[in-house]
Parts: sequence; structure tokens; C-alpha cells
Amino acid sequence: MSDLTRLSAAALADALAKGEVSSVDATRAHLDRIAAVDGDVHAFLHVSDHALDVAADIDRRRAAGEELGPLAGVPLAIKDVLVTTDMPSTSGSRILEGYMSPFDATVVARSRAAGLVPLGKTNMDEFAMGSSTEHSAYGPTHNPWDLERVPGGSGGGSAAAVAAFEAPLALGSDTGGSIRQPAHLTGTVGVKPTYGGVSRYGAIALASSLDQVGPVTRSVLDAGLLHDVIGGHDHRDSTSLTDVWPSFAEAARSGARGDVLKGLRVGVVRELPDSGFQAGVSESFRASLALLEANGAEIVEISAPHFEYGVAAYYLILPAEASSNLAKFDSVRFGMRVTPHANSTVEDVMAATREAGFGDEVKRRIILGTYALSAGYYDAYYGSAQKVRTLIQRDFDAAFGTVDVIATPSAPTTAFRLGERVDDPLQMYLNDVTTIPANLAGVPGISIPSGLAEEDGLPVGIQFLAPVREDARLYRVGAALEALLEDAWGGPLLDRAPALTTRGGVS
Ligand code: GLN
Repeated sequence: MSDLTRLSAAALADALAKGEVSSVDATRAHLDRIAAVDGDVHAFLHVSDHALDVAADIDRRRAAGEELGPLAGVPLAIKDVLVTTDMPSTSGSRILEGYMSPFDATVVARSRAAGLVPLGKTNMDEFAMGSSTEHSAYGPTHNPWDLERVPGGSGGGSAAAVAAFEAPLALGSDTGGSIRQPAHLTGTVGVKPTYGGVSRYGAIALASSLDQVGPVTRSVLDAGLLHDVIGGHDHRDSTSLTDVWPSFAEAARSGARGDVLKGLRVGVVRELPDSGFQAGVSESFRASLALLEANGAEIVEISAPHFEYGVAAYYLILPAEASSNLAKFDSVRFGMRVTPHANSTVEDVMAATREAGFGDEVKRRIILGTYALSAGYYDAYYGSAQKVRTLIQRDFDAAFGTVDVIATPSAPTTAFRLGERVDDPLQMYLNDVTTIPANLAGVPGISIPSGLAEEDGLPVGIQFLAPVREDARLYRVGAALEALLEDAWGGPLLDRAPALTTRGGVS
């Protein structure tokens, strides 16, 4: 088999099951790819030094005739927000540099149990705060489509790793769009499951009422396969739903071959302004809608008048919850400790540690959140934001009374240049205008590549949203559109990504 890194996870799993390739070969191919391109991409914060041993063990078990899961032997990249016992977990922060967790996040434990081979930990904005991965304490990740541009955030590392063929699969987390927005900017697929559908046990908390863990892949089927591994009830996460979920891989397969688009009612939000969206993003979105319509879907205008307040509400609720979640980084229990002078009090040590350990964006949000929660301001800020959240949830309820899914562009622009927005928090926050409502309402969302923007040749994604618990619908619809688009393109969009030659001379 020529280049194992170009295969989808499904195709690689198939070849592994048939004994055509070994997991050691597949894992070595990805480690070689990382060695060749990650100096330029910087998708990884840490590369596992025992991935090949894990792969060899899977090969041995397969040879011994053991019944293995569908993804056994396939390599996996893990966002550094997820704790792991065998690799450091930093959440992109200096304060957790070198931190070793005594336990695995549930999604990591389930991935290991399913025979996936962890390749390493991926770069991210510090504590998952950001839309470009430039807020990582360890330097930015570069977009494989153009190394001078951002891969999105906060999960830019996972998206770039998958887009650069350094890993066929990755895990991400999505609090306001950190799986879906990087997917849009890198031509990959990202899914934010229904709130409570995937365990967050061992996901370093950003905003607990919004956080979800989910798959980052190159195809809808691959996302379904990984979702099947990580999803389902976990008694260690008090928000975990007890539902028995259908197979999302099966949903993707049925979407790709069936006629799910016939009679499907696709809602388009009237109030989402056309202005603010880059021309190529709007054009690609309209072309996808036309394709859906040509294949039997009905495009229905819906009203969601409160969506536009989502960003404002989110940037009060998130800092409020984050300021509380990050209080545990107190120099006593985790990570870094700075003792400013010989007679330091415990308060001096905490203050100096947090001053040295947190970056600017994290400090900005802790201050904002503490302020929004303080006596006298609580009702005006946090209370009002929670009311807006309820109104957005009602918008969704009303819309899903008439449509099966809602479609939006996954983000307003294509990948912007490194440095372009990093000093302008508001511009950065506005990136999340279409992804945030799903987190506020707890509904599932998927972003799949919809094409390239004409003006800059960079990837664009389309997002579908479904009612709570209807994740399978997203896999059916996503796979159906993906099949139509790939027919038209003559293959996956990522096949058209330029080779990585800009800086390192590697293809
Ligand atoms: N960009 C959003 C933020 O900065 C999303 C973060 C996320 O989903 N983790 O908060």
C-alpha cells in the first residue's frame, strides 16, 4: 500500500482487518509524516514515544485471533485538553507545563480500549479560549493549506493534524465552536455532539454548561466511527445522558447511499446577516443549498431572532464559568508554583503563579467573568445573558417545529493570517457567530467542507444543526451532502490542498 497517511480511517481500518497492513506500519507512516511536516505545522505539543509498542500489541492480538473493535490499530491524535496518564496534559497553558494526570479522560480510556493508537497531544488555545490557536502558550499552529494562516481554534492542532495527514482521526472539544470552526478553516469534518452525549470526565473544564468532546476527521463516516467509540453514558460525568445511541457510523453509511435528502426540510436563518460573511463563504453556502435542493431537499427560511445575541451572551456566560473553573489552578494542587520571595504568604504564591502561568486571554476572561458574577452586577450581566440563552433555546425549539435541520456557514470567513486578529479580541470573538448558538442550546452540530472560496482558494465549511439527541440525523445529512460534493469535485476536498512546501520544502 503506497501512502498509508492518505487513507481515511475507515479504509485504513478495513485494510488492517483484512491483514493487508499492520498497525505498526500505519503508525510508523504517521509518525514519519509528523517528523517530516510538524516542524512547519506545529499541530502537536507532544508526540508519544510508545505509539509503536501500542500498535505492535494490537497487531499481536489480531494475529492471535482476538475480536477487535472496528477502529483497532488506527492512529489517533488527542487534543491536549484531554488528560492522559502516559503523556503530559497542558491544555495549552504554561501553568500546566509537564503536568501528568493520574487518570485518563473517559474518551481516551474508551479509545484505548477500542484499540486506537494514541499518537500524541495536539496544540490548542490556552484552556480552549480562542479561535486561532494563537493563544497557545507553546506557539501557534499553522494551517496546512497556507502556513501563514491560522487553522482556527481553539482546536487548531487537532484540525491541522488531520488536514496535514499527520493523523487520520483526532479528538477535540467544542465550547463555542472549537471543533467546527477549525474544521471549516482546514477543510476537515468536525462534530459537536448533543450536550451530555460524550463524557467530559477528564476534559479540563472551560465552561461546564457548554463544553462537549467530539471527533475531528476527514470524512463524515470517520467521525461516526470515532463518535461510536467515545460516546454513551459515563457515570463519572454528572451531565452524561443515559440514552442508548444508534450507531453514527451506520447513520453516515445510510446517508451516503440512501435518499435522505428527499423531502428533508432544511432551515436557513433569516436574521443571519449576509454582511460580515466573506463573499466566497456565502457563495459556497448558497451552492450547497442549491445542491441539496436539486436532490430533493426543501429550503425553508426560519426566524431565529436571538441568534445574533449569542456571541454577547456567550462571552458573559463563558468567562463567568471559566473564572470559577480556573480557580483550581492555585499553585497548590496542579502544575506550576512560583514563590516570589522568601517570606511569601500563600496568597503571594498564588498571585505570582497565576500571573506567570496564565496568558493574556485567560487573564482577560477571568477578570471579565469575576466582574460579571460580582454582587451588584450579577443580574445585569450574568442574569441577562442566561435569559438570552433561554430565548435562543426557544428559537431552536420553534425552528425545529418546522424544519429537520438548520444550515449555516460554519464560520464567517476563511482562514485569516497569523497575527491579524490576535490583538483584537472582539474580531476574534465574532468568528463564533454561527457556532455558539448550538452550545448555548445544547444541540448537536456538524461542519463538513463545502468548497473553496473563489477569492482566496481556501476551504469553507457548511454547518448543520439538529434537535437535541438527533446527532444521527446530522451524520445522515452530512454524509449525503459529502457524497454529492465529492462526486462533483472528483474526490475529497483535501486532495486539492497544496502540498506543504511553503516553508519546509516537504510535500
Ligand atoms: N472560540 C471560542 C472561544 O474562544 C470557542 C472556544 C471553544 O469552543 N473551546 O471561547
